[in-house]
Amino acid sequence: QQYIEQIEAQDSEINAYTATHFDEALEQAKTIQKKMEDGTAGKLAGVVMGIKDVISERGKKLTCASKILENFESVYDATVIERLRAEDAIFIGRLNMDEFAMGSTTEYSSFGAVKNPRDTSKVPGGSSGGSAAAVAANMAQATLGSDTGGSIRQPASYCGVVGLKPTYGRVSRWGLVAYASSFDCIGPLAHSVEDTARVLDVIAGFDEKDNTSSHIEKDDYVAAVQNPDKNIKIGVPEEFFAEGLDEEIKEGIESILDKLEADGAELVPIHLPHTKFGIATYYILATAEASSNLARYDGIRYGHRADKEEMLDELKKEEIALKEQFDLAEGEKKIELQEELAKMDSALIRLYKKSRTEGFGTEVKRRIMLGTYVLSAGYYDAYYGKAQKVRRLIQNDYKEAFKKVDVIVSPTAPTTAFDLGSTLNDPVQMYLNDVYTITANLAGICGISVPAGTHSNGLPYGIQFMGDSFQESKVLNAGRLVE
Ligand code: GLN
Repeated sequence: QQYIEQIEAQDSEINAYTATHFDEALEQAKTIQKKMEDGTAGKLAGVVMGIKDVISERGKKLTCASKILENFESVYDATVIERLRAEDAIFIGRLNMDEFAMGSTTEYSSFGAVKNPRDTSKVPGGSSGGSAAAVAANMAQATLGSDTGGSIRQPASYCGVVGLKPTYGRVSRWGLVAYASSFDCIGPLAHSVEDTARVLDVIAGFDEKDNTSSHIEKDDYVAAVQNPDKNIKIGVPEEFFAEGLDEEIKEGIESILDKLEADGAELVPIHLPHTKFGIATYYILATAEASSNLARYDGIRYGHRADKEEMLDELKKEEIALKEQFDLAEGEKKIELQEELAKMDSALIRLYKKSRTEGFGTEVKRRIMLGTYVLSAGYYDAYYGKAQKVRRLIQNDYKEAFKKVDVIVSPTAPTTAFDLGSTLNDPVQMYLNDVYTITANLAGICGISVPAGTHSNGLPYGIQFMGDSFQESKVLNAGRLVE
């Protein structure tokens, strides 16, 4: 009831939810209360959660904040939902995001932008902006987001909450709508490191429905945060504290590191020499995968379908006009027009084009074009093939570093949350913002963002700890030391 009241009071302004299901949540709460009385309740009994609108919940809309899926309803539960349900979490609503998780501001949503609860003139970050804002404004106790290049950690940093991106393969992707399949991860956002550990504990683990899911046993994450080790080795990469980083954030993080060192941690200077290629590599590979994943939305199998009659009318009119010109033309012009008539798109192709033109937003279209380009014959080797090789070099940088340290520290983002609207005409500026989060996705490793302080502009900023594959316990441990 308390969370419903919070949502009713604030969400007309914040816009974190794309849909709510209060009646069902209250019903669920009643059942769980009974179970608690009987002593049969699960690990997350009564934890009120919101779910990013890119993760399937049976019987609920699954829109990905896209017009192309505005009426799409999910017919099954994602594995993460099944597991949370089994432990008696309560689902209260679906959370706003950048369309298909593409963006860093949650402004590219068919439901309109989300506002940062800490300052409503600022973006909440993205693409899981709804997931971070809902926690920050106490409109959920914990939420699920997805992180392909930073989409859990960066909004967590901007909204002053904790966000964890697990290792690729740690949490099942079954039921997560694909953006870039070799990067996508589902993870929790919450107020505390312990809360994220508790959610991770439930959603992590092998799932036969996801063929990239790992058989490696999960750790005891809750134990790791309840008894954190202070004598950890923290790698400090020179590349992550260089140009472009807000001076105050830099100083804030350095003073946290001094304190951790005084408490027993060892700070180890390290190098991640291929960091500078991270953004370029990510935006080639992620858009390539996206263009392929999004091919399924054709308006035929599912998704928004353009008005067929209207489209056929247009097609007929165009055809008639061309035929009339053809009848009147002579010589070369006639041959030209004949070729044009032969090349006219079929009705089906027209329908695809019109449906996709109407259904996808600006940023998604930009990514489809970019991705199609880097995959096209003649450019494949120069872009896609090369980016694959650089991805391996970035992975190797981390592999080497983790031989020497337990975790690697960095800011989560180079700045605090920026003004709403300020990057809308400058997508590259938005992409550059992902500099500290993106390499963890390229390497497939885990990372956490924990609130590190408040800037003199009044906004929160996060500190990130990255850990080697399947070392979630180590990043949770490090995160707990900062709280
Ligand atoms: N900002 C990055 C992008 O736009 C990351 C998004 C994400 O992690 N889903 O692709």
